[in-house]
Amino acid sequence: MDLRNPLGVHALVWVGGTGPADVTAAIGKTKAAGYDLLEFSLHDSINLDVARTRAELEAAGLRAACSRGLAMDADISSDDPAVVERGEKLLHESLRVAAGLGASHLTGALYSAFGSYARPLSAAGRANVVAVLRRLAKEARGTGVTLGLEVCNRYETNVVNTARDALRLADDIGEDNVVVHLDTYHMNIEENDMVRPVLDLGERLGYVHIGENHRGYLGSGHLDFTSFFHALGQIGYTGPITFESFSSAVVAPGLSADLSIWRNLWDDGEHLARHARDFISTHLSAVPA
Ligand code: MN
Repeated sequence: MDLRNPLGVHALVWVGGTGPADVTAAIGKTKAAGYDLLEFSLHDSINLDVARTRAELEAAGLRAACSRGLAMDADISSDDPAVVERGEKLLHESLRVAAGLGASHLTGALYSAFGSYARPLSAAGRANVVAVLRRLAKEARGTGVTLGLEVCNRYETNVVNTARDALRLADDIGEDNVVVHLDTYHMNIEENDMVRPVLDLGERLGYVHIGENHRGYLGSGHLDFTSFFHALGQIGYTGPITFESFSSAVVAPGLSADLSIWRNLWDDGEHLARHARDFISTHLSAVPA
């Protein structure tokens, strides 16, 4: 059955590293499991051979997306100009990598570090986020890379925790190549339900992460995916839908710690990914026209 959304999978389902052997394995497994898109975390992209990865993606007929958060010492939501500057540099480097890979999206917590903040976002910090992301969006124009603001929960950021927060931020940035990215795992913690945020965003929704409430097997937790997929159908969402799941079985040293991946929720990434693809396509094909 033809689905109207590209279906993606996060590379951490397959491998923790970004060296050539890991990239080749991730691309082969993504293709074999029937996905259209592979999402790379750029937390640790120092080993990533961009040109080679792009060629392998093209040979496999796969699309790519990139995601990342910033760091406490390189954070554009800070009040400290030196910290903001380091964060902006990281973002511009990440945009170059995303464009080099031919990625459709650079998304995630582009607006702050991944981590538990000790205080609310300041007005000056928010103004820094707006100014830096406006410059990044202008630079992204012409690269083919769309920027996403992923709505993350309170334990990972203090900048945007709800779809409405993200919409306000996107409005203030004021560039039409900046979209909002919803993740069902985070929505479960912060939103009133799984439908209203989707309807509130409408055409401003540009990227989706599907994850269970514990980030393990889809359907093994308590999230109301039926309502969520119906809401996507209601707004006519055609953007990427990427399966995101983490287990202590596959570790990326920086990212896994930032995301508090302490538990073993699965061992067999191939079984997990095939199951998730079936789960997502079954839900999508059942959405009322
Ligand atoms: Mn996510």
